[in-house]
Amino acid sequence: MSSYTLRCVHCGDEVPEHYTTACPRGHASLLRADYAEKQLNVMKAPGIFRFSSWLPVHGSLPIDAGPVCYKSEALARELNLPNLHIGFNGYWPERGGTIATCSFKELEALPTMVRVRENTTDTLVIASAGNTARAFLQVSALTGVPVVVVVPEKSLARLWTTVPAEKACVIAVRGDYTDAIRFSREVCSLPGFIEEGGARNVARRDGMGTVMLDAAVTIGRMPDYYFQAIGSGTGGIAAWEAAVRLREDGRFGQALPSLHLSQNLPFVPMVSAWNDHRRTLVAETDMPDASSAISRVFSDVLTNREPPYAIPGGVFDAMSATGGRMYAVTNDEARAAGNLFTEHEGIDLDPAAAVAVSSLIRACETGSIDTGRTVLLNITGGGYERVREDHALIPVHPAFCVPAGATAEQVKKELAKLVNHV
Ligand SMILES: *Cc1c(COP(=O)(O)O)cnc(C)c1O
Ligand SMILES: [Zn+2]
Repeated sequence: MSSYTLRCVHCGDEVPEHYTTACPRGHASLLRADYAEKQLNVMKAPGIFRFSSWLPVHGSLPIDAGPVCYKSEALARELNLPNLHIGFNGYWPERGGTIATCSFKELEALPTMVRVRENTTDTLVIASAGNTARAFLQVSALTGVPVVVVVPEKSLARLWTTVPAEKACVIAVRGDYTDAIRFSREVCSLPGFIEEGGARNVARRDGMGTVMLDAAVTIGRMPDYYFQAIGSGTGGIAAWEAAVRLREDGRFGQALPSLHLSQNLPFVPMVSAWNDHRRTLVAETDMPDASSAISRVFSDVLTNREPPYAIPGGVFDAMSATGGRMYAVTNDEARAAGNLFTEHEGIDLDPAAAVAVSSLIRACETGSIDTGRTVLLNITGGGYERVREDHALIPVHPAFCVPAGATAEQVKKELAKLVNHV
């Protein structure tokens, strides 16, 4: 249970909460949740909702998925990092990891579903290429709250839950992720539907920010360095915002952790812009041959063409405020790092998490961090092999398929039926 107000980062004005994702004065800026409680009050609640006082929700869900933080021994020894802490966000019950869909996107989906229910009667629409879709389908399955999920057709194989998703409507688009995003906007132009909002959704960011909160509470202080692989960079923004709140709390240190964020070659737009000291992304310079580059990465969840990089309160500001660094990792480096992690820590990784591990290895080798200090490595996904031992994975089939570029008009009837039905 929290008490919060929304504020525009650009103008500072208070913004009324109706699941609002933009400043009503038209500023191209993120909104932020301003919590009444300035000290983190960790509650006796399951999973992520123990951090409810810093989530933009009043209620909670009886679901025990949440962030897990532990001190590494084997990998720490291997890398000669005596203060390496791992934020594990996936399925690994032996360590307390119960995120059944295996990525930190569930940390976003849980508070978002509560925020939606508390502020609007509209049906939530999510465009995703995989992990986000699975997370929202799972939370819909567990809560019975309807969602519309729009995915590129080739991502359908990644859509599964561990409980039947009876109130979920999946629309497959014959095209890529960008086509799926366009069609989801079409759906949101119809009455009764609302866009999830991505980085603009404060529940997404503050949900992801619980990885930093959990680490600070577990370690007893904020880490000095935060490592994460990014596609949109929302998790990096979230870690920074959580750290700013922890600094204000006063009990977890005054220095903000520096963000060490990584992308997967050959698609590394934010690394390119940041290393050029530029606030704006330039498509020709930062993502040449984008489609071809995207098709060649090991981790395709890291391939967002429109990340919230330049926007006030976005990735550039987060990197600047924390003295951050960015890393570009090759497929081979990521695979090798992922194997090293599994060998030492004993759990399989999402390819994106392997990219983050690789960036940490690079940081140690190049001296870009002081190896004696406290490191938080965000393992943003893992346990895909482990979850199969405990759960049957139930595929989620699309309600219908549309061609790229379809309009909502063309599917209005089907959608209306679905919404009445859900
Ligand atoms: C989405 C995702 C990321 C990237 O997260 P952002 O902070 O939104 O860029 C990293 N790892 C995994 C497993 C993801 O699903
Ligand atoms: Zn504003």
